[in-house]
Amino acid sequence: AKERGCSRYQCYAADMHARTIEHLMLEGDLRRAIESDQLFLEYQPQFDLTHGTIIGMEVLVRWLHPKHGLVSPCKFIPIAEESGQIVAIGSWILEQACEQYTRWTADGLDIGTIAVNVSAYQFQHPDFVDMVEAVLKRTGLAAEYLELEVTESVVMQDMHTVQDKLNRLHALGIKLAIDDFGTGYSSLSYLTQIPLHRLKIDQSFTAGLLKDRESLAITQAIIHMGHSLGLDVLAEGVKTVDQETQLRAMACNAGQGYLYAKPLSAEDITTFVRRRTQE
Ligand code: C2E
Ligand code: CA
Ligand code: CA
Ligand code: CA
Repeated sequence: AKERGCSRYQCYAADMHARTIEHLMLEGDLRRAIESDQLFLEYQPQFDLTHGTIIGMEVLVRWLHPKHGLVSPCKFIPIAEESGQIVAIGSWILEQACEQYTRWTADGLDIGTIAVNVSAYQFQHPDFVDMVEAVLKRTGLAAEYLELEVTESVVMQDMHTVQDKLNRLHALGIKLAIDDFGTGYSSLSYLTQIPLHRLKIDQSFTAGLLKDRESLAITQAIIHMGHSLGLDVLAEGVKTVDQETQLRAMACNAGQGYLYAKPLSAEDITTFVRRRTQE
């Protein structure tokens, strides 16, 4: 299945062996990545489609490998999940993001919420909620500014445990978004059983919006359903003004994508936000 903003790649038998070796090497290198300052974060702004204002930033992790250069998170996040390293890496990402947020706030910048991706494996860890709470305490970030993005695969785990964790996060004041919505295979009934804030329409639907009737129909259905359930709906991967116009006509609340900004460094976000709020 297509997952995580990562397009599915073909598996050719001849590549399989090479891929396994590369995988093992990257797994080893990843163990040193945090200590060696090879990981860093970028931030992609999210916009209100009615007012054109910035409503938040999604945090996206980057790995600058000393030999291979930038390695895509589509490649190393699954490796980190399989090897269990996602727990340490995920906490590091959350802490860095919260720290950066408080720095922006101290500089007088209003950037809305900060949205952090949480992988299913990371969410499953028994200490996940405690870890999030501890990071908020340590960094002094108010919970209402934090949004966690989880995929449908998270919700497909044991519902009782998932509900309990999500309720605890919600009680802290943290917002919850379902990422890549529409690409999973979960039943939709969970939507009424967990404290959700937002659905993020997968970018494959945004890309097909003006090309095929199916993508248009699915996008429309997600927006309607989300609104009926009292949820905010954000379209991912908005690349053209025509897509934005279509989304706005369908009353989609928010958008994110290259049309507005690529993922940027913290420094470039500061400039980007200053420039926009001075206009
Ligand atoms: P995602 O959470 O669905 O993130 C959106 C991806 O789409 C990002 O790719 C982003 O750079 C890209 N994108 C944004 N706007 C556009 C657009 O207009 N067009 C296109 N084609 N792409 C756009 P990125 O940064 O390579 O991340 C890929 C995936 O890796 C993410 O998908 C997410 O699943 C995972 N990932 C990234 N950072 C983290 C992280 O900090 N933690 C975890 N657990 N996963 C992460
Ligand atoms: Ca996606
Ligand atoms: Ca995401
Ligand atoms: Ca996504």
